[in-house]
Amino acid sequence: MTVFICCFLTWTLMFLFLGSIGFVLREGVHQLQRLHQIPCADCEFFTNDYRLKCTVRPCVACTEDAIGCTDFEPKTCFANSCQQHCSRVHKAYTAKPITNSAVPPLATRIGS
Ligand code: SF4
Repeated sequence: MTVFICCFLTWTLMFLFLGSIGFVLREGVHQLQRLHQIPCADCEFFTNDYRLKCTVRPCVACTEDAIGCTDFEPKTCFANSCQQHCSRVHKAYTAKPITNSAVPPLATRIGS
């Protein structure tokens, strides 16, 4: 009879242990899916700066409250959080000369 009780308790503990592992895994996957719904990383107003994450809703940015944000705008390459990417992709834009050749340089009389 003692052997039967020990086996029963052992299997009960095993089922409880495996059940709790399954529960934790399911909750973790659910939480990860929820966090991946936060749209801020793909938003035009996201600054990628920890001091001011969003210029429109700074208190809500990167939290679960931002899911379904009505101010979401898809990010363009001119977004603040995308400047390095923009300079790599649009080299022709960044390589534009900043001086105007139509305007003659100022005549300086330094040293004469
Ligand atoms: S406007 Fe909304 S979606 Fe965009 S960064 Fe701010 S909180 Fe996130």
